[in-house]
Amino acid sequence: MSKKDYYDVLGVSRDSDASSLKSAYRKLAMKYHPDKNPGDSNAEKKFKEVSEAYEILSNSEKRQAYDQYGHDAFNQAGGSGFSDGFSGFGNFSDIFEDFFGDIGGRQSRQREQRGQDLKYEIDIDLREAYTGLKKEISFDTLIRCDVCSGSGSEKGNGLKNCGVCGGSGRTRASQGFFTVERTCSACGGAGQVITDPCTTCNGEGRRRKNRKLEVNIPAGVEEGSRIRLSGEGAVGPNGSSPGDLYLFISMVPHEIFEREATEIFCNVPISIVNASLGGSVDVPTVSGGKVKVKIPAGSQNGDQFKLTGKGMPTLRSTSFGDMIISLNVEVPRNLSDNQKRLLKEFDEESSQKNNPESSGFFSKVKDFWDGLT
Ligand SMILES: [Zn+2]
Ligand SMILES: [Zn+2]
Repeated sequence: MSKKDYYDVLGVSRDSDASSLKSAYRKLAMKYHPDKNPGDSNAEKKFKEVSEAYEILSNSEKRQAYDQYGHDAFNQAGGSGFSDGFSGFGNFSDIFEDFFGDIGGRQSRQREQRGQDLKYEIDIDLREAYTGLKKEISFDTLIRCDVCSGSGSEKGNGLKNCGVCGGSGRTRASQGFFTVERTCSACGGAGQVITDPCTTCNGEGRRRKNRKLEVNIPAGVEEGSRIRLSGEGAVGPNGSSPGDLYLFISMVPHEIFEREATEIFCNVPISIVNASLGGSVDVPTVSGGKVKVKIPAGSQNGDQFKLTGKGMPTLRSTSFGDMIISLNVEVPRNLSDNQKRLLKEFDEESSQKNNPESSGFFSKVKDFWDGLT
């Protein structure tokens, strides 16, 4: 078997260095690459020759053996004495046969390619989260082409084998000795292309559209809740089944209510008189109503009251969380002269038992100072 000289294959001189070998190989590999020469068996053969030559010459040990013994250095049957050292490369061309042998021989593999999932962020307020709501959203998506019903074919003339991958749906790119197999970009891996592409969708079977959709948001959603709408995503290639649409809930902060899961917190300001004498205060609830809360005499700033079942609904359940109100006792400001006089009079009447905490605190402070001496 007469084999071409490796240096001739790459078109370089016998004393060329590594970088000129590499650039010669790159140029030729690009030129004869199967991706660029679909169905051209001559180019394929050249590509194999070039790759093989570079594989040998780019390795200094193998290059030395080749320089000394020629092709026999890598031929097991040649008995040159090097077959032991390079036994792994004796069937070199067989490896390439494995790599390239099935080009065009594989029948098209139709892959079911699902469309993309879409994400839609939606802002809702606390009241909407409390009641649940229907909302119309609009978003850009890919819909099935209505002209060709998703087939991508204008008159339904059908399919032919892809010219780029020859129907295999895969292409190969060679990087030195390694061959990387990829999904063919021309046919998207289907192996076949449409002979009369639909002019509306360019044969894709789908097209861009702004879609409006009424969505149901259940009561009880919270920040970060995710709602999946099955099949409402983008239609896949060739009009294949659509992905899903995910609604991501983002909560708009409320002016008076704070929320933690199903609990609602509310700070309720009351006057110093109301806190001292006791009374009642109307507390708004997230449901939109109000609850009269009884304030015991002597209530303190920060005292909390629980309103059972007045919190948020639990998602996909009939139960409700609680509402916690905290008193915010407001010290009066901007006093009139008369108010100041009344407060002073009040103070003169006061004794330790009116302010047990202050009294307790200051007697502890006194003990502390006494203890230091
Ligand atoms: Zn179409
Ligand atoms: Zn293809």
